[in-house]
Amino acid sequence: MIIGVPKEIKNNENRVALTPSGVKELKKHGHQVFVQMTAGDGSGFADEEYANVGAELLPTIEEVYSKAEMIVKVKEPIEAEYKLIKKDQLVFTYFHFASHEPLTRAMIDSKSVCLAYETVEKADRSLPLLVPMSEVAGRMSIQQGAKYLEKPLKGRGILLGGVPGVRPAKVMILGGGIVGTEAAKMAAGMGADVTILDLSLPRLRYLDDVMPANVKTLMSSEYNIREMITDHDLIIGAVLIPGAKAPKLITRDMLKDMRPGTVLVDVAVDQGGCFETTKPTTHQDPIYIIDDVVHYSVANMPGAVPYTSTLALTNATLPYAIQLANKGWEKACKESNELKLGLNIIKGDVVYKAVSDAFNLPY
Ligand code: NAD
Repeated sequence: MIIGVPKEIKNNENRVALTPSGVKELKKHGHQVFVQMTAGDGSGFADEEYANVGAELLPTIEEVYSKAEMIVKVKEPIEAEYKLIKKDQLVFTYFHFASHEPLTRAMIDSKSVCLAYETVEKADRSLPLLVPMSEVAGRMSIQQGAKYLEKPLKGRGILLGGVPGVRPAKVMILGGGIVGTEAAKMAAGMGADVTILDLSLPRLRYLDDVMPANVKTLMSSEYNIREMITDHDLIIGAVLIPGAKAPKLITRDMLKDMRPGTVLVDVAVDQGGCFETTKPTTHQDPIYIIDDVVHYSVANMPGAVPYTSTLALTNATLPYAIQLANKGWEKACKESNELKLGLNIIKGDVVYKAVSDAFNLPY
């Protein structure tokens, strides 16, 4: 198959959909791979590295789209790319259709085949192409939280791990899923006093089994949350209710019960946030302060670490991309239910219910 990797053109997107190692694997399977020049620059992969493993470099995005049977991307196509997508072309990327009607209609009109990373789903209902980004965001939430706890950055001025003779900081993590677990590991590794709150007792049991001694678990309830916020230094929002907006677990009135310089990192910002005062921010301007409480709520946290994010994402996407290239999308989706669930639009027809429901489109 002929595979194309365009350079991402969405604002501040530095990831790339295939690494040189991924190209090498696809070449081993006999495929032809076109990569747009400088596509890997933002993630630290030079054109030369792609050329060395047999990728053919093309100077323009138009050429990549026009030559490829399958486009492998990271972000959803933006308006400038709509017209480049061809009839029958397979596009394998994050789409997030249900929150973007113009994109949905443009992809229907293109008559292409849209296979969305975010809806590829395993039999245990996990989402293998979303997990890597949650892992990155979870680990990063502690790195960011530790930074904004520093006094010059408006925090309480407390070191996460303390020092001998001085107590460490207290970290509270709301939600013990992928993000929460990775955050807890990082905070615990830095020596903080960590508590994870979740509603699922089986999940709390599991975390209690596997986490080190400086991580405790607690049932999530308004009562417990109100009690804890008064003396916790860093609070991470990591809850998810699939398909729904995040519940507001910390309300505006609770901020006055926190100590000045407490830091809130709301990783769940992309689902509306689990703090009432959350509003999305950017890496250029990541924080704001309400009632002396520092809020960090960057909607695309993994974007700040493109090297790690690209490798984490492509580790997960490559095996699927190989299946699609080897078999073609129809056979690959017939043989793999995981991939089949990734199909959102096929040649003008919406085939994913949540997308048709979102815009009243025929299904
Ligand atoms: P997950 O499904 O693995 O975990 C969510 C956890 O929240 C579950 O264990 C669930 O039991 C728990 N939960 C639900 N309601 C709760 C409540 N009331 N109190 C406490 N716990 C509760 O999800 P995840 O992959 O860890 O993702 C968490 C959030 O992070 C999602 O909103 C996701 O979209 C977001 N995310 C954001 C970024 C970013 O850059 N900002 C990146 C990746 C993921």
